[in-house]
Amino acid sequence: MQPSSTLALVEMAAKLRREGHEVISLAVGEPDFTTPSTVIEAAYEAMKGGKTHYTPPRGIPELREKIAEKYRKENGVKISAENVIVTPAKMGIFIAVVSFVEPGDEVLIPDPGWVSYPEMVHFAGGKPVGYSLDENLGFRVNIEDLQEKVSGKTKVIIINSPSNPTGGVFTWDDLKAIRDLVLDHNLLLISDEIYEKIIYEGEHISPGIFEELLPHTIIVNGFSKSHAMTGWRIGYMIASQEHLSQMVKVQQHTISCAPSMAQYGALRALEDKDSVQKMVEEFRGRRDFVYSKLAEIPGLSVQKPRATFYMFPRYQFQISSKELAERLLREKYVAVTPGSAFGNNGEGHFRISFATSMENLKAGLERLTDFLAHL
Ligand code: GLU
Repeated sequence: MQPSSTLALVEMAAKLRREGHEVISLAVGEPDFTTPSTVIEAAYEAMKGGKTHYTPPRGIPELREKIAEKYRKENGVKISAENVIVTPAKMGIFIAVVSFVEPGDEVLIPDPGWVSYPEMVHFAGGKPVGYSLDENLGFRVNIEDLQEKVSGKTKVIIINSPSNPTGGVFTWDDLKAIRDLVLDHNLLLISDEIYEKIIYEGEHISPGIFEELLPHTIIVNGFSKSHAMTGWRIGYMIASQEHLSQMVKVQQHTISCAPSMAQYGALRALEDKDSVQKMVEEFRGRRDFVYSKLAEIPGLSVQKPRATFYMFPRYQFQISSKELAERLLREKYVAVTPGSAFGNNGEGHFRISFATSMENLKAGLERLTDFLAHL
């Protein structure tokens, strides 16, 4: 396994700060907001009431029920609490991968795509195979390329819409084509829906809406991005009971259960739609600002993301994205993530996370503009 580039940058920026430098981090994808106070209160009350013990490995029944209700009502996915395991979202993807990927299996992953997919596949002894997200299609999946990448060894397809690091959103047609591919080749689909709520244009469609696909699908979602709860480590998986009965064993033998107090916080979070809306509106303002600034920089071409808090500009300078990110950090104390961290198709890009204050964004973009002008 390779170390996580996104988290490595967090460490590097923290080290420079400790040395006294004024570092602006546009690297990590984590909302700068504090978790809504209603959620904090709910967790606090739960703890004071003695909810500080193990919970059932699959999670507390009332939360599993509420998650199922959310997916039925908001996403049109016909499931019950029996289809839900509460677990941190990253852990959920890991559990799904290690439960079903055998050594030698191929797993199709988005390229560019989140840094941890290939490493989780490596951990299971599988082979990650990238499929293209096409910049000319607003970073939607290139279906022909995806079809071509399916081989006799393909076991799993991972999709992530809305997508990290590009902010692309898959359409109905994309999802129908993916459904057909999964059913034709009897594959397993892992759908990472963590950015579901951070969406500005278009709509989030869960592939679980296709009933015939449900027995082949594992949905992963969570509260980190939608409710600014990254430190709580709380999310969930939705899958067939057959798949869940396998995956729960990994949960039992690793983390036992998700943190009990975080589960009570999450229960409250599912009722708090206003806070999510407010944060998304704030992100939208930042997105428009960052886009307008990046669009003015010579040598960059940038798409306005339809979702997420990431922008993934392409540059024309003769420098690798790794070197660009390292020099930008060393010379201007601005952290961005090199595009190559997200796969071969990410080279020639860098990722900016605008999940930080307007003040940081203004100062960071000024320094970036200055840096690029001297490249
Ligand atoms: N997913 C976020 C990112 O891409 C958080 C860090 C991580 O889990 O990689 O920055």
